[in-house]
Order: sequence, then C-alpha cells, then structure tokens
Amino acid sequence: MHYAIGVDVGGSSAKLGIVSQAGEILFHHRLPTPAFDQPIHVAEGYAQAIDLVLDRCGDVGVQPAGIGIGMPGNISPDRRSATLNNVQILDNFPLADFLGNRFDLPVELDNDGTLAALAEYHHGGGRHARRLLVVTVGSGLGVGLVVNGQAQRPVRGCIGDPGHMIVEPDSPWRCGLGCQGCLETVASSLAIQREATALARRFPDSELARLGQPDGTVGTAQVIDAAIRGDPLARDVLEQTGRWLGIGLTSWCYFFDPDLILIGGGVSAAGELLLAPIRRTMADRALPAYAGHAQVGLAQLGNDAGLIGAASLFLNYDPEEQS
Ligand SMILES: [Zn+2]
Repeated sequence: MHYAIGVDVGGSSAKLGIVSQAGEILFHHRLPTPAFDQPIHVAEGYAQAIDLVLDRCGDVGVQPAGIGIGMPGNISPDRRSATLNNVQILDNFPLADFLGNRFDLPVELDNDGTLAALAEYHHGGGRHARRLLVVTVGSGLGVGLVVNGQAQRPVRGCIGDPGHMIVEPDSPWRCGLGCQGCLETVASSLAIQREATALARRFPDSELARLGQPDGTVGTAQVIDAAIRGDPLARDVLEQTGRWLGIGLTSWCYFFDPDLILIGGGVSAAGELLLAPIRRTMADRALPAYAGHAQVGLAQLGNDAGLIGAASLFLNYDPEEQS
C-alpha cells in the first residue's frame, strides 16, 4: 500500500494528513495560517506542521511517497510556486522547493480545484467518468477537470479560473478579486449570504431575519438549514444560486464537454435544493448536442477532497482504473 502526505492550504487554516492509496486518511492535522510578515517564516510554519505528520508516519510505520500541496490560484509551469492564492504572502514563493529541501521528499503544488477533481475521480463520485468536471462552491468557485484519469492543466497550471466568467455585465457586485458581475458574484456562499441578508432586512418577521446575527447578517449554513426545514425565502435564495450555477455550467459545457459534473464545497450541503434548479436550468438552456449527456450530482468527499487530492499526486493507481 502506498501513502502520501496531503496539505490543503486554506485562507484561514491548512488541513494536513496521511492518505493511503485506498483514499483513507490515517491522520488529520489542522494548522491555523501562520501569521508572519516574511514568506520564509510562513513556509517554516507549514514545515513544522508537516514534521508532526511525518512523526505520525513513523509511529504507524508508514513511509510517505511525497508531499502534495493544494492552493487556489495559478500554479507556475514547473509547479513550484503559486500566484493569486489565498495566503498572499506566499505568492511566487518557491514553496515546493523549500519543503523539498527540508524533507528530502518529492513535493508538488497544484490548484485546489484540480485536486478536488482528482480526489473525486480516484476516491469519490467520479470514478467512472470519462470527462469529469468538479465544481467546489464556497466563497468562490473552484473548478477542476479530469479527462480519462488525467488532470487537465492547460491554462496557468490549471484550467484557468472559469468562476470569473462574466454573467451580469452591469452588476453592482464584484467578486473577491474585483471583477464586476462574474459568476462568483451570484453563485457562491458570499452571494447566498448577501441575498439572504437583504431578504431578512426586507422581511423582518421572517425566519431568515430570526436567524440573522445581531448585525443582521445571515450566514450560508443558516440559509441551507432553513431551506432544508422548508423555509420559502431560504429556498428562493438557493433556487437562485442553483439557477446561476446552471447558467455557468451550461456555458462551461461548451468548453469542457463533461459527461459528469459533481458539485462540492460548503454550499453543496443544500443537496437537491441546489441540484434541482441546476438541472432544470441546464435542460432549458443548454444545446443538447453539447450538454445533453452531462449528468449532475454531488461530490462525495466533502471537506477532505482537497487533502486527498493533494496526496493523490503521489499515490499509484491501477492503470485499469484510469482507462
Ligand atoms: Zn470574479
């Protein structure tokens, strides 16, 4: 059995673990993002957390084959550094070389959307897909494509950043990177929070208003919980989110031609309340020749997809499985 270390670098914390070839996570560790003003000190913070994981590998008699690291943003062609990632101080810092020298193990960086797709392909809901598109819906949109078992990285070390496709050119809203009216402004947890908060203000006697925090903000998890309980306003918010995702996915089908689309990330906890409007919108809008064969379902690996996908860069898979 092969094992590898996966590191999923998030904006506020990183998830680390030992992952087996069977996709089992033997050890989980969470590290708050190191707060230093020099990139090398931040990198050293991650190195110390990897030290802990390696100690644990020794405890259980496991020799990891390498260290895979997932980050959002663009990955350099040699996969040694990232830009536009969520720990900005590490932009362009050669993190893979730093960690490779420190541990004498092979290290690779990859885009977190790509890694979520690889994880779902090898260990989740996408095992038999020929062209698998995985969309991670959180505060932004992570997108990864796996074709015949191979992760696709044609643009900036990933498949580019299709979440910034403009869908509302005159929108008053901008995404976290500042683009006006991109898909992320209408189909993300931030959009759900914004719309639910606006509805709560407009309808002060509603369930959404009751769920709001003292400043009136209604969080995405609260919207999803209320929608699952049947609250009509919360359901309207998710209906809109699903409709916008369906619009985005319809366009992406013309580029990526997926036969399976899996929706993951925190917003996917809405389940069918999100999938139904996605499927309906795609059925209404997409050219059948392109999108008629694309199935839409839920990703299966939840918050562990990035970690498992990062480790998967160093796990050997049966070539039969990748056919
Ligand atoms: Zn954008």
